[in-house]
Amino acid sequence: MKQVFSGIMIPVSTIDWYGRSVSVVFFNGCNFDCIYCSNKNFIDISNRLEPLFKKGNVVDIEEIENQIIDAKTFISAVVFSGGEPTAHPRELERLARFTKEQGLLVGIETNGYYTERLEGLIKKKLIDKIFLDVKTSPRDTQKYRKITGGIVDAAEKALCTLNLKDVDLEVRTTVFPSFAADIAEIAKSIAGRNCTYVLQQGIPEYAPDENIRKEKPLTRDELAVLAGNLTFLKDVRIRTREKGEERII
Ligand code: SF4
Repeated sequence: MKQVFSGIMIPVSTIDWYGRSVSVVFFNGCNFDCIYCSNKNFIDISNRLEPLFKKGNVVDIEEIENQIIDAKTFISAVVFSGGEPTAHPRELERLARFTKEQGLLVGIETNGYYTERLEGLIKKKLIDKIFLDVKTSPRDTQKYRKITGGIVDAAEKALCTLNLKDVDLEVRTTVFPSFAADIAEIAKSIAGRNCTYVLQQGIPEYAPDENIRKEKPLTRDELAVLAGNLTFLKDVRIRTREKGEERII
């Protein structure tokens, strides 16, 4: 019997895992409702363009597996993204296992809410790298809750995921001008951890929140200054539309 889930795939990407050529599988749906989420638009638009999704935004999981096989010659890993991939635990595990069986690495881009699911995949040796999206300082539970659309324990769960062992970790924050002052506090929460920290240039025009849509994106130079101040971290990068990923520290 065929198993189905909602998702789309970019066969080859060089921007989702620095230094690697990867396929990216996007899962629809997310347990958060972030005030600046740009992925929602992207997923909607992609679904309209993608014939596979004409029947209720559901795709045969075997179709994704076939696409991974087709892309295998050109990639060294598959990154599962979203939406929130861990909101689909059964399908994620099946695809992660399939990916490993193909001799490829597995990365997961996540908001970190389902720590136990991530831990389970780590124990089964089905994840090589977690790309954790940290929204603001996990110590500021009220602000974390506000940004994520009212998720009461979002900050607490992000902290738990930050503490996961036996997996490579990259921490990412999407930065808008109104949140730029939070960066130093976020950075303090990962100080001492063996991870990369990436400041991503937020694109206000796609944000659901009207106030954020009125902001101008931070420039590459403004992001570089923010990153350059985090001298207590070992590896700090920025990612912009202008120049892609650059290591600042
Ligand atoms: S966690 Fe990511 S995909 Fe989910 S609502 Fe927030 S920004 Fe969008």
